[in-house]
Amino acid sequence: MFKPLNILDEKNKILRKKSKDVELPLSKKDKETIDQIIKHLTYSQIEKYAERYNLRPGMGLAFPQLGLLKRIIVIVYEYEDGKFKNYVIVNPKIISHSEEKVALETGEGCLSVNREVEGHVPRYARVTITGYDPDGEKITIRAREDLSVAFQHEVDHLDGILFFDRIDKKKPFYNENEIRLI
Ligand code: ZN
Repeated sequence: MFKPLNILDEKNKILRKKSKDVELPLSKKDKETIDQIIKHLTYSQIEKYAERYNLRPGMGLAFPQLGLLKRIIVIVYEYEDGKFKNYVIVNPKIISHSEEKVALETGEGCLSVNREVEGHVPRYARVTITGYDPDGEKITIRAREDLSVAFQHEVDHLDGILFFDRIDKKKPFYNENEIRLI
């Protein structure tokens, strides 16, 4: 039986706290939570299920969004129509990034932010992330473009940062000469 996750809203102060590193390998409970997140994110991106369960589409979630202050992020990335790849990173660290920045042209969204927020969020076009899989194996992931944006968005959650914190209030939109819009 599928039960949608209870995701904290931006008004909840827990989202502003810094999450802690997690001991590895993960507990059975944390692994179960990861499975639930993967299912929720996958369903949310498949119209039939999104409608049936009234889910807002989202490709990423971080543990603090469930009220758990643990450094674990999950991304379900649709790399081809109807085909998904799951990324789970425990204690992630962005160890290097491109000079070049990009921003999603239509702005970012977040499953904890239940309103439209206008503005471009500058992000690195490419990042390299290290961390651990749920069993404690070291992993390194190189991400570019929208996947790179997603990783930066989720890692921010672990530090209590929400995407709109990074929007320039005085000048929320960039033009193509200032930043590459994707
Ligand atoms: Zn988010």
